[in-house]
Amino acid sequence: KKPPSRKGSMADVPQDLLAQISRLEELFVVPTEKLKAISDHFVNELSKGLTTEGGSIPMNATWCMGMPDGNETGTFLALDMGGTNLRVCEITLLEAKGEFDIIQSKYKMPEELKTGTADELWGYVADCLQQFIEYHHPDEKIESLPLGFTFSYPATQEYIDHGILQRWTKGFDIDGVEGKDVVPPFEAALAERGVPIKLTALVNDTTGTMIASAYTDPEMKAGCIFGTGCNAAYMENVGSIPKLAHMNLDPDLPMAINCEWGAFDNEHKILPRTPYDIIIDKESPRPDQQAFEKMIAGLYLGEIFRLVVLDLHKTDCKMFDGQDISKLNKPYSLDASFLSAIEEDPFENLSETADLFQNKLSITPNRAELELVRRLAELIGTRAARLSACGVAAIAKKKGWTKCHVGADGSVFNKYPHFKVRGAQALKEILDWPADKGKGKGDPIEVLPAEDGSGVGAALIAALTMKRVAEGQH
Ligand code: BGC
Ligand code: MG
Repeated sequence: KKPPSRKGSMADVPQDLLAQISRLEELFVVPTEKLKAISDHFVNELSKGLTTEGGSIPMNATWCMGMPDGNETGTFLALDMGGTNLRVCEITLLEAKGEFDIIQSKYKMPEELKTGTADELWGYVADCLQQFIEYHHPDEKIESLPLGFTFSYPATQEYIDHGILQRWTKGFDIDGVEGKDVVPPFEAALAERGVPIKLTALVNDTTGTMIASAYTDPEMKAGCIFGTGCNAAYMENVGSIPKLAHMNLDPDLPMAINCEWGAFDNEHKILPRTPYDIIIDKESPRPDQQAFEKMIAGLYLGEIFRLVVLDLHKTDCKMFDGQDISKLNKPYSLDASFLSAIEEDPFENLSETADLFQNKLSITPNRAELELVRRLAELIGTRAARLSACGVAAIAKKKGWTKCHVGADGSVFNKYPHFKVRGAQALKEILDWPADKGKGKGDPIEVLPAEDGSGVGAALIAALTMKRVAEGQH
């Protein structure tokens, strides 16, 4: 259902609120020219990250050195340590091309773990794996199962089965893990419990997404995550990665690069940051990091919204005047699903939005306020989608792709209303596609829902790794 035109109804919005809307539009709308400038700058930053001097985007070599051809086989465990859930899968890649069987269990990732100790974290993860094996393989004597571990944080890798955590992202803040190899303490926790698992590959979710998508679609050239965090991976040639030159590898070898593009513009040269973005950054456990991610990822969308609404209450326009807004004072109390629900609400009566404010925040908005928060959600959601497109366009430009598929996963991509279409529209503006493009389906560069990256993708990477090892390659 299409919302009716806004023009008529805006007449009901009092002048001071109207003035606020145009101020917010000023702040949050990213016009075509700006998108183009951002994406051009992005191309340079991607290249810089591949050099020895480096730049703000890490461009991590992953040692995942090839796409699957659909003929991979074997049984593997996959572990996904995400922001919300911890998922364990057992995946059997079947003889039939591109097919697999999967069994899985999900465990909650307790909120306290994210700011607890490293021992608690690895202990919990190992306990979940142990439970999984005991449940699915009772009374079996298992020698050792190969594991693809999806660890969705920036890691420096010299080998595919090791990774030094560069820094926590997505609100994680566990002491004593940054700057160290995460594999030894993880394996120690397994060994302590006698869990028969051998870590074969440490994988980023974006690399997993790319590989899983390429397993069934040979047009797939990159993988993106638009979820709690935001990032992308693509295949580079070793010869185009100056920072690997000292290794004297065959320049034609493929190497998946985990961009960690959330760090784009950490030096604040180009992104149109608002005062609200600046507050988010300052108050986060890692200020001055993940500048791009903090404007796009699901973890932050609700928080941006909350900060704007609080500001509108405090300033002249006195939104929710006279009401008790104390529940709005709690940082990160609104998540992206709150914005999703507002954007999904039919504009005619916005009753769902009114209920949300009532139930969640004990606030009773009037019609003008309802329209304002609706517009605000649209502005925040649209900005996120348009800025993401700058990253996708930058990789395509850098690689000279004019036609390909990009696999995307994550809660924002899959669940946030209009995210896909807004992103496609922005790609069209950046890449100057003809008028009939930019709708998603059939576009020259199409961002498509990905296959299960942290399950099948991690298993495939483990399979590809074991094959390479068997063949005596790096
Ligand atoms: C992490 C990336 C990850 C992305 C999506 C970011 O915060 O640094 O490694 O790919 O979130 O999960
Ligand atoms: Mg995830």
